[in-house]
Amino acid sequence: MKMSNLFVQTLREFPSDAEVISHKMLARAGYIRKLTSGVYNYLPLMWRVLRKVETIVRDEMDKAGAQELLMPFVQPKELWMESGRWEAYGKELMRLTDRHNREMCLGPTHEEIITAIARDVLKSYKQLPTNLYQIQSKFRDEVRPRFGLLRGREFIMKDAYSFATSQEDLEKEYKNMAQAYTNIFKRCGLDTKMVQSDSGAIGGSVSHEFMVITDTDAGENDVFYCECDYAANSNHAVSNLPDAVVDGSNFFDTAKVIDTPSTHTIEQLAEFLSIPSTIILKSLVYIVDKKPVIALIRADKTVEETKLMNAVGGMDIRIATSAEIEELMQQNGFDAVPGFIGPKGIKNITIIADNTVKNMKNFVVGVNQTDKHMVGANLSDLDISDLKYEDLRLVEAGEYCPQCGKSLKVTRGIEVGNIFQLGTKYSKPMNAVYLDADGKAKPYIMGCYGIGISRTAAAAVEAHHDEWGIKWPLAIAPYHAIVIPVSTKDETQLKVATELYEKLLSNGVEVVIDDRDERPGVKFKDADLIGFPFKITVGKTISEGLVEFVVREDGEKIQLTPDEAVQVIVEAVKRNQA
Ligand code: ATP
Ligand code: MG
Repeated sequence: MKMSNLFVQTLREFPSDAEVISHKMLARAGYIRKLTSGVYNYLPLMWRVLRKVETIVRDEMDKAGAQELLMPFVQPKELWMESGRWEAYGKELMRLTDRHNREMCLGPTHEEIITAIARDVLKSYKQLPTNLYQIQSKFRDEVRPRFGLLRGREFIMKDAYSFATSQEDLEKEYKNMAQAYTNIFKRCGLDTKMVQSDSGAIGGSVSHEFMVITDTDAGENDVFYCECDYAANSNHAVSNLPDAVVDGSNFFDTAKVIDTPSTHTIEQLAEFLSIPSTIILKSLVYIVDKKPVIALIRADKTVEETKLMNAVGGMDIRIATSAEIEELMQQNGFDAVPGFIGPKGIKNITIIADNTVKNMKNFVVGVNQTDKHMVGANLSDLDISDLKYEDLRLVEAGEYCPQCGKSLKVTRGIEVGNIFQLGTKYSKPMNAVYLDADGKAKPYIMGCYGIGISRTAAAAVEAHHDEWGIKWPLAIAPYHAIVIPVSTKDETQLKVATELYEKLLSNGVEVVIDDRDERPGVKFKDADLIGFPFKITVGKTISEGLVEFVVREDGEKIQLTPDEAVQVIVEAVKRNQA
C-alpha cells in the first residue's frame, strides 16, 4: 500500500471529546470517526485491526470445537417475552416498531434467538453438547456511551452459546472456553486476569470476566486480587474484616434516644458524639425497580449496589432522592429528614442488613426523629420483623482474602471478555428441551461466552502506546511495517525504498511505503502515531549501503543493510503467525 493512496487522515490534535488514550489515539491517527453518540465508523486501518482480532477469535473458537453461524441483528419482541427479558432488560434495549406495528429490538446479545434455534434443531441428547458462536454488531443504548470504542452503543462482539445435558458437561465447556479466551487475548498481545464477577443482565450463577489491568480511567471496573489466585470484580468480591465485631459499650451502656442536633452525615454524628464511625449503623434508602428498599450497614463501610440489587432480585438500582425519603417517612407516620432515618417502626418495606450488622453491639442508629439518634442500641431495640442478612459490602483494599486470609489489593480493569454458566435460565422459560436417553424431555444446560472485538482492539491501544502514538502488537497491527524514503526526490533513496517494499510484499509482509512528498518529520510522526510495528528509513546512509531500522515497541534504532532489515521483519512476522 502506498501512503499516498491509504485512506487515512491524521489529525494534529486529539479530538476534544476524547477522555481516554485509546479514543484519542484512534481518532487522531485516522482509525475511527464518530457518526453519532457511541456510534463509530471503522475506517480502513481500523477495519484491518478488527478483522485481525476476529481472525484470532475465529481460529481459537474453531480449535476449541465451536461452530460459527450468523443470527439476525433485529429481533422480534415475542422471544424476549418468552424469556421474560422484554420488561427486565430496561432502557439499554433499543426497541422499535415496524410498519405493521410489530415490536422488535436491536440485538444487545442473542440468548433468546440461539435458544429458539436450539429447540428447533437439537432435539436429542445425541446432538449434545454443542457450542455455536457468531461475530456481529450489537446495539446497547448505554446511558453513558464514552471512551470511544471501549463503551460504544454499537460495537462488535463475539458471542458463543453452549448446550449440554449436564452441569458437568457445562463446566467442561466453561473451562474449555476459559482456555480459548486466555489464548485469544495472549495472541492479541494482551495480558488478562480472569476474575469472578456478577452475572448482570445475562444471568446465571457463575461467571468470570477477563480483565486487561490498567491504572487509567479507561479501567471502569475495580478488581480485588490476592497473592493466591483469588481475583474478583468489586461487584462480586468478598473479604473478611480485621475488626469484625464492634461493641459501643465503652461509650454507651444503655439504650436511649438522645439529642444529636444537625448531625446529617456520619462524620458529623461521629464527631458530635466523639465516637468511631464503626459503632454507627447506617440506614440507606435505595429504589430498586421503582420500589424503596432500606439497606443497613456498619457506617464505615459502603454498600455495593449490584450486591444489594441482586439480594432483592432487582434489575435496576439507584439511591433514593430526599423527596422519596420524605415520602417514605410520611407513609410510616414520621417526618424525619435524611440523616436521621432508621429501620425502627418502618413497615411494608424490604429491609436488608449487611453481614457487618450481625456483629454490632451497643451502636448508634437513626430512629426517624430529626436531630435525634438512639445510642447504646441493639437489634432487639429496633423491632424489625423478618430482617434478612446478605453480603452487601463493597470490599476495600487491605481487607482479608476470603481464600487465604492475606491482604487484598485493588487495581482497575477493562472487561474484554465474559463467560457465564447460565444453567436453565433461558431453556426453562422458553421450553427449550431435548429428549434424553431415558426418553424424558429436559431443558438444555447452557453457557454463554462474549468477547468485545472492538473493545479488545481499543484495550490493546490502552496497553500499548507512548506519547507519540500507538504501538500495535504485531498480530493485530493494521500493517506490519512502513518503509520511508526520507526524500522521494532522491532517486537512490526512492529506488532502494521501492525495492525493499516489493521484497517485503512478496514475502507476505503487510507493508506501507510512504511515497508522499512530505517533510521527513511529518512522515516519521505519522508512522509513530499510526503505530507500525517496524519502520525502515532509507536516508543518506544508503550511500554506505545502510538503512535505519526501528522497532516501534522499544524505539531502538539500528543500522542494517536492506536485506538484513527485510530478513528481520519476515522472520518476526512468520514467528508471530506460527
Ligand atoms: P460492561 O459491564 O462493560 O457494560 P457487560 O458486562 O454488560 O459490559 P457483556 O454482556 O458481558 O457486557 O458483553 C460481552 C462483552 O462485550 C464484554 O465483555 C465487552 O468486552 C463487550 N461489550 C459490552 N458492552 C460494550 C460496549 N458498550 N462497548 C463495547 N464493548 C462492549
Ligand atoms: Mg460482562
